[in-house]
Amino acid sequence: MSAVRENGVIVAIDGPSGAGKSSLTKLLAKRLGYIHIDTGAMFRAVALSAQRAGIKSDDDAGLAELCRGLEIAFARDGETCRVLANGEDVSAEIRTEEIGLLTSTISARKPVRQALLEMQRKMGAKGGVILEGRDIGTVVFPDAEVKFFLSASAEERGRRRYLELAARGESATLEETIAKVIQRDRQDEGREHAPLKQAEDAVPIDSTSLTIEQVLELMERTVKERLAQGEKG
Ligand code: C5P
Repeated sequence: MSAVRENGVIVAIDGPSGAGKSSLTKLLAKRLGYIHIDTGAMFRAVALSAQRAGIKSDDDAGLAELCRGLEIAFARDGETCRVLANGEDVSAEIRTEEIGLLTSTISARKPVRQALLEMQRKMGAKGGVILEGRDIGTVVFPDAEVKFFLSASAEERGRRRYLELAARGESATLEETIAKVIQRDRQDEGREHAPLKQAEDAVPIDSTSLTIEQVLELMERTVKERLAQGEKG
């Protein structure tokens, strides 16, 4: 394995929705003093912009044009991280269920994947970053020094998502939420370009019956072991 990069290693955290990637990425980044990059938020920003511009999800030329004119950035302020699309704060708007499903459709399109692949590689190249997504360890950074594949049963992921929605005052039943989780898994796993799948060299973690703290400790230990190896090599 190579020695670490300018700012540290690249950590890839992939897995299906609701497995706990976002919470864990943020916590792990804080512990390691790393930057975290929520690549799902980037795809969501593209989906929201396409919806607003009336671009259909199968209009590849329109999507390519949209991506060329779209600048996605993260504005970090202490604990909070806002998502900016051409300077506009879209953090709240990209989090609805409707945009989540549209994102899953639009993110399967080649021009969208290509545009965001380049942006993500630029953001992460120097290391000292944790990227969470679906294809970080397989496509974006196949050479990432540490890779995790975080999963949990669909029922448990649906349950967690349901509680999140309820806390935000959104109405949905548990059954509906589990069904949407399964639908999104199918779309993400079945697509032609960069499908959701575990990298061969990823550390698999099933979080169904683990606490966040337990997963966090396992991840932190794994990264620190890799950093110690890098310093020697
Ligand atoms: O992680 P999050 O639920 O915000 O991602 C929304 C959608 O974006 C996913 O269902 C997936 O279709 C897409 N996505 C992707 N590749 C990534 C991150 C997210 O295709 N690296």
